[in-house]
Amino acid sequence: MNMNLVTLLYLIASVCFIQALKGLSHPKNARRGNLFGMVGMALAILTTLALIAKQAPGAGSAWLLGALAIGGGLGALAAARIEMTKMPELVAAMHSLVGLAAVCIAYAVVAEPAAFMLSTTGVLPYGNRAELFIGACVGAITFSGSVIAFGKLSGKYRFRLFQGSPIVYAGQHRLNLMLALTMVGFGSLFLLSQNWLPFILMTVLAFALGVLLIIPIGGADMPVVVSMLNAYSGWAAAGIGFSLNNPMLIISGALVGSSGTILSYIMCRAMNRSFLNVLLGGVGNHPLSASHAKHIERPVKVASADDAAFMLANAESVVIVPGYGLAVARAQHALKELTSKLTAKGIQVRYAIHPVAGRMPGHMNVLLAEAEVPYEQVFEMDEINAEFGQTDVVLVLGANDIVNPAARNDPQSPISGMPILDAYRARAVIVNKRSMAAGYAGLDNELFYMNKTMMVFGDAKKVVEDIVKAVD
Ligand code: NDP
Repeated sequence: MNMNLVTLLYLIASVCFIQALKGLSHPKNARRGNLFGMVGMALAILTTLALIAKQAPGAGSAWLLGALAIGGGLGALAAARIEMTKMPELVAAMHSLVGLAAVCIAYAVVAEPAAFMLSTTGVLPYGNRAELFIGACVGAITFSGSVIAFGKLSGKYRFRLFQGSPIVYAGQHRLNLMLALTMVGFGSLFLLSQNWLPFILMTVLAFALGVLLIIPIGGADMPVVVSMLNAYSGWAAAGIGFSLNNPMLIISGALVGSSGTILSYIMCRAMNRSFLNVLLGGVGNHPLSASHAKHIERPVKVASADDAAFMLANAESVVIVPGYGLAVARAQHALKELTSKLTAKGIQVRYAIHPVAGRMPGHMNVLLAEAEVPYEQVFEMDEINAEFGQTDVVLVLGANDIVNPAARNDPQSPISGMPILDAYRARAVIVNKRSMAAGYAGLDNELFYMNKTMMVFGDAKKVVEDIVKAVD
């Protein structure tokens, strides 16, 4: 295959990836963005296959096709079966594979530089050793960090490392720093000698560091961790792209790395936290006081779906706050029906979206888009927060942490400083959830006990359907 043609095809694939990122920046163009991504990836894979078939004809390609079929099959199966609420765990699992692939490739290159056309004598140039050092370290940190993030996000495993609450201990940051410096020390030895021992020790330390960096993070900081690991996986791929001399891998790795870094920055800003603050162990670092950790038995006003329907139908303005519970119940279609009924009565209905509502960035936007809620009704936190004070009724559906006033009013709260949707400022608040259980950050929520708040208990879909029936 002509190398100019390969370069041209890689260039087209890169442009597709850039278009994909551009499309994914707004729900309106997201489908088109995904399509660009798929075309770009197909082009990149086919071009690479053709290139390998030319450079190493024979058995190598058969192995590759076999691996592609198994990996592609498993990926398609996972994508088809995964529930949307479980996406962050799937994403974390995928990041771990990218990290592991980077480590495996680095080991293969060190073992046989000639096979990668990097050296005929077996001695790697210093530049390649540096790439391998960085690629293997970042890859190993990404792998073990993503495995821990996967466990924390799934919340299914009893293993302490996999529990959502942060693990903190004295001297934690000092230990991490020492390990990181020792890892760099071994990496430098590898750089100078190309010996296996420092390379292996460096990788072991990087695996350990990945675990230790993620265990102190938990609760409401997990979204930032997921996007940070996404960025790491991109940088690891880019690093390995240099070793493999593959411009496509360098470009796509750099795109993933830089977009992941920008997303992490945006999410940190949305959560009013600094990057360093999250990395050094964020939410839950403060010991939870009894009132934060568990809800104390206190009276709440309980209402029925009929009561909620009456209040909504008699309001002039309504703001709906969707949260994780809405996604679990898959209540978005019923909600759209409710909105249509209320707007037909001349009531102003708007949706308020918190940047970390649900379990993945953009989760609520995706749900509402699925139900074909008009974009003009959907407002981001900064656009709508000032409006809550003049709103008659706020309907909170399966949301908890994102409307917890403790973030604003209680400096001792583990989520203190995190921006929230100011639902508590509205004239009346209706909260739907199944019980008084805490949300993701494990905190009690003062909003539920306020005089203006009515709790309507039950599964979000059933409750919204009942409200729809009751609104005449
Ligand atoms: P929360 O997890 O804070 O609260 C969701 C609430 O929904 C729960 O209190 C639960 O209460 C209720 N619920 C669950 N199932 C149902 C159901 N079927 N019907 C009705 N209610 C239900 O969600 P929020 O969206 O408010 O906040 C998101 C949290 O997740 C934040 O802390 C965020 O940091 C974190 N996070 C976000 C990620 C992201 O990228 N967006 C990724 C990872 C974590 P009950 O059990 O009583 O019904």
